[in-house]
Amino acid sequence: MSQTASPALASVAAIEDAAELLRKAKRIVVLTGAGISSPSGIPDFRSEGSGLWSRVEPVEVASLSTFRTSPERFFNWFRPLAGQIFNAKPNAAHKALAELENSGRDLNVVTQNIDGLHQRAGSTRVVEMHGTLRTLSCTECFRQFESGPFLEQYINEGMIPKCLSCNGILKPDVILFGEQLPQLAWLEAQRTVRQCDLMLVAGSSLEVLPVAGLPMQALDRGAHLIVINQTPTYVNVRADVILMDDVASIIPEISKRVLNG
Ligand SMILES: [Zn+2]
Repeated sequence: MSQTASPALASVAAIEDAAELLRKAKRIVVLTGAGISSPSGIPDFRSEGSGLWSRVEPVEVASLSTFRTSPERFFNWFRPLAGQIFNAKPNAAHKALAELENSGRDLNVVTQNIDGLHQRAGSTRVVEMHGTLRTLSCTECFRQFESGPFLEQYINEGMIPKCLSCNGILKPDVILFGEQLPQLAWLEAQRTVRQCDLMLVAGSSLEVLPVAGLPMQALDRGAHLIVINQTPTYVNVRADVILMDDVASIIPEISKRVLNG
């Protein structure tokens, strides 16, 4: 018999358990991190040891102070990543989560990603904890622009995006090191987590605070917890279901069972 891409037998039981929890849940929060976008070809924005960071200190170059003092240094460094994000397409995991929401389930996504792939896959209730590359804001007059046309010129020709009103430098609306989390997003994330009875962690190693603390808030209120991540997380000891696997293959398997169940 030939091998297929279907999950290993050991995983199947866990996938069934996860599907059962999702079917029973009334309010679901899915917390996503870099692991859900890596199958779309986007490297981990923050983790050291990835190819992206091998020659520079992330905390230094992707910081608000570098952006303020030498924006060209930030833009030079950010250019390959911006290109990867700009050209990326939602993968099977993004699409499966969007399908679950669009099937009428009360499902909110809280994401650490800046790529907008959840929305492009069709999810409508998405809280972006680290901002987004979909818009840029002027550092002088604060006018906000859709990033598409600016990004294209920046990625292809290296042109630093400038404000159409005042020619100030446009900063991507992503949260850099040394920058506060967006207050509204944080309040919204906490509100949804307080109300959920199931949290699914997907593709996050839960290493960046304060977002990493959200699963504990859910657990303390009695919610169930599913963790799908390649590496262990600190909340695995309290999880109902753990799948140490690729989210792009596992989440569609779970979603299929929920929708057909
Ligand atoms: Zn301006």
